[in-house]
Amino acid sequence: MSGRDDDMTPADYINRNRAELRRCLAQLVAIPTVNPPGENYGVITALLARKLAGLGLSTRRFRVPAALAARSLPPDQRGLPRYNVLGTLGAPGALRTIHFNAHYDVVPVSGRWRHGSPFGGAADRGWIYGRGTADMKGSIASLLLALQALRAARVAPRLNVEVSFTADEETDSQLGAGWLVRHAGVRPDYAVVMEGGERSSICCGHNGVVWLEVSVHGRAAHGSKPEAGINAFEKMAALARALEGYQRTLARIKFAAPDGTTMRATANVGGVFGCGEGAKVNTVPGHASFTIDRRVLPGEDHAGAERDLRAFLAAAARRIPQCRISVSKISENFSCFNSPRHPFFAAMAASVRRVRRARTAFTVSTGFNDMYFFARHLKIPTLGYGPGGRNEHAVDESASERDLLDCTKIYADLLTTFP
Ligand SMILES: [Zn+2]
Repeated sequence: MSGRDDDMTPADYINRNRAELRRCLAQLVAIPTVNPPGENYGVITALLARKLAGLGLSTRRFRVPAALAARSLPPDQRGLPRYNVLGTLGAPGALRTIHFNAHYDVVPVSGRWRHGSPFGGAADRGWIYGRGTADMKGSIASLLLALQALRAARVAPRLNVEVSFTADEETDSQLGAGWLVRHAGVRPDYAVVMEGGERSSICCGHNGVVWLEVSVHGRAAHGSKPEAGINAFEKMAALARALEGYQRTLARIKFAAPDGTTMRATANVGGVFGCGEGAKVNTVPGHASFTIDRRVLPGEDHAGAERDLRAFLAAAARRIPQCRISVSKISENFSCFNSPRHPFFAAMAASVRRVRRARTAFTVSTGFNDMYFFARHLKIPTLGYGPGGRNEHAVDESASERDLLDCTKIYADLLTTFP
């Protein structure tokens, strides 16, 4: 190392290696880890394990046992193994451990992308385009460069570091972060889930969800004799109208987020709806179904929220003549919230302010992410922060190079200042 390099700070290294950040992100985006169904997990986790090992971390790559996977995956996905990667780096003299987590799966693609392939990773006027750039391979690239910067600048982190890259966040995380906290032997003291908060916002919690499917059972008949059947579509429509009353009562359930936002409980009706087999223009529909996406606030009782919704549906169906329904749970995720008064949150806010020179706010996300597994399952202070981006889950998803660089410096700053 030259004399000048001896004075190099992690931030200097990051500034000089922004091309590496772009390259690394494009390399990750080029592996289409589309979920569902969960493709190319083996390829990307092998690459990520190599990268962590190259940075000096003891690295393990876990393949979720097939028997366990078979219990939670739909039959068409059982040939697609689930993997999680864990890296650990000891810090001299450190008694405590900080865990960084990102999911590497991405949602499916559709539509026409400005730069051709959604897996190209094209750079254009300060933005990098591709599925996963914002959600959340940009976070992975940022963390990898932050660790590399510490190594190059010969600065040790003040805490032991654990890094996990996990599967299936875009479905239910059970074989990803859910598997990791139960089976990988991790025991961190603090966690950063690298999404949920971005730029000046630090995420200290998120909503939970209950996803239900309501099936309406009618009776099919010839369309020329509607009176001979029970029209499941019409019953479903009446039920959907009744749910407007439920939505109004939800709007009165509130949660005050630390940034001053008032959050309200919500239910989105009919994200997916349809008819059974045999539907035809001249047939009275014998079956109809629709989904409900109930967002559960951090202050709410999760099981109670589900119970209330099911009771409302049953009562509403009773009031509609000949309306017979059954309700099943598609999936659920639990809310979490940590008070940002904990010193860990103050340290993150200070890192964000030092790098971005802007005021910070503590927010609660309406969407869920994997923070729950660390905050509620491991019961440790957990925050959400990453580079983020725009058009997540949509056409032309992209991440800003400026935000990627800032986030890299923020991770490096946190690692070298906390506690
Ligand atoms: Zn995500």
